[in-house]
Amino acid sequence: MPQIIMEAIATRQSPSAASNSYQNLFVEGGYYVFDGNRVIARFRIGRNGVGRWRLETIDPGFSLVITPDLRSRKYRGIGSSCLVQIIRKFESVFDALKPLDEAVCNCAQHGHAWSPTQSRLSYADAPYSWQWCLVCGAEQLWFPENAECLMWPADAAEIAVRTAGFLPRLHGPVVGRAS
Ligand SMILES: [Zn+2]
Repeated sequence: MPQIIMEAIATRQSPSAASNSYQNLFVEGGYYVFDGNRVIARFRIGRNGVGRWRLETIDPGFSLVITPDLRSRKYRGIGSSCLVQIIRKFESVFDALKPLDEAVCNCAQHGHAWSPTQSRLSYADAPYSWQWCLVCGAEQLWFPENAECLMWPADAAEIAVRTAGFLPRLHGPVVGRAS
């Protein structure tokens, strides 16, 4: 008798074990960096009743959905519709993803890995330059005229005003043209 019970438990466990490992991929509400972009992981049950991990970005109209085979798809809301594209660049989402606290620690030890410098005119025609960190997703911008430097996210509110909402933004070839 005990043996039969053991078998019944073993059979019942195998399908749910697979879905459990997918459900445990991320921490709900956890902060991560995806390819130089800060994202938040959310597990959401869709209309079809299937749960999927979604990585929310700083752009409310743009997110990434992770499938159980660890591929990522980008979701971009356009009006009332939604454009879905498979990201083929990475074998697995974890090739480009790491927990934010791990990335921040790494930058604290080794310094930020800044992108090439980008330049732009502000709304008041004051030129500014900016870079993002490929590891932790931080941004820094500076105004050469008065040698002023701002860092995102520490100076988030001021950056939003000074760049008229241009920064912070999504980075890199995978998601950078989202907005
Ligand atoms: Zn960094």
